[in-house]
Amino acid sequence: MFESRFMPCPECGASLDRQIEPNHECSTERRAEYQMFALRDEIAQLEAGVQHYLGTTLGRFETWLAARKVRSAG
Ligand SMILES: [Zn+2]
Repeated sequence: MFESRFMPCPECGASLDRQIEPNHECSTERRAEYQMFALRDEIAQLEAGVQHYLGTTLGRFETWLAARKVRSAG
């Protein structure tokens, strides 16, 4: 079976030459950036989900309730 000599590290996304660095260690910084990048869709979806929720009747009610609580607390 054909296997590519280069493969992306599943942890940090670095392109690894398996013949040169079989024991690759991820850079912490690179791994954090890669994982943020991998999660960007989920983050965007969460944001859209919240926006959508706030537009529903229940969401509007909760917004109203929260505002009321804040005002009465002061
Ligand atoms: Zn890595």
